[in-house]
Amino acid sequence: MKLTILGSGAALPSARHNNCSFVAHSAQPILFECGPSILYQLAVAGISPESIRTVIVSHIHGDHSLGLPMLLVSGQIAQRERPLTICLPSSAVDQAKRVCTTVYPGLERFMTSKVQWIGLPEKDSASLMLPGKTRVTTAPAHHPVPVVSSHVSFEPEGRDLTFSGDTAFCEAVARNAEGTGLLLHDSNWSDKLKNGSGHGHSSAADAGRVASLARAKRLALVHRAAELEGHEPDVRSEAAGQFSGDVLVPGDFSTIDL
Ligand SMILES: [Zn+2]
Ligand SMILES: [Zn+2]
Repeated sequence: MKLTILGSGAALPSARHNNCSFVAHSAQPILFECGPSILYQLAVAGISPESIRTVIVSHIHGDHSLGLPMLLVSGQIAQRERPLTICLPSSAVDQAKRVCTTVYPGLERFMTSKVQWIGLPEKDSASLMLPGKTRVTTAPAHHPVPVVSSHVSFEPEGRDLTFSGDTAFCEAVARNAEGTGLLLHDSNWSDKLKNGSGHGHSSAADAGRVASLARAKRLALVHRAAELEGHEPDVRSEAAGQFSGDVLVPGDFSTIDL
């Protein structure tokens, strides 16, 4: 089973690194994060928006959610038949719906008839089944707005991954990721390069610490600030100083075998 990285960058994209997003090519494909240029990212990767069955958005920040109206309007124009499930932190569901109907008032009917909206708990863990026999267990992470990290098990494929969402170092993310095959973790900063710190994001070293606590098999550093471009070997070694498994620093439109 493959993952396509649609974007490995942080909130402000560069020419080579767009907003963090990826697709898990399970029997019922899942899109993680839906930033403002999602339709462009899917087009470049050769993935039809209509093939996506479920979207998991970790939090309402624009670099993660502003593509939702675009994804929905493309479904409306394509007369999408397949239902779409969208998961967000519970307080973000109405906020996201409001954005969609503000920018495209005509979306209301499509949103009611074709989209199932699921609010994920923001203070507790939860476990639920998604289409395609996919189990997701969630845990709240640390960010200025409610954010939910997800451990997703693809039961038919016998694979799993965990995505931190945007977060500062958070033990609850590590507990939720226990034994995961692949942890994709916020790596907005580098402690060594000192391109910034705090404010609800992790450094590569923080990501390595979480992967180690979780006993993850592999770690992929994502949501990397543009200032880290060209420093990928340093960022990798910073995380590897805390974690003995494989550390990946994936580029946009690369694929990862799960
Ligand atoms: Zn972000
Ligand atoms: Zn954020």
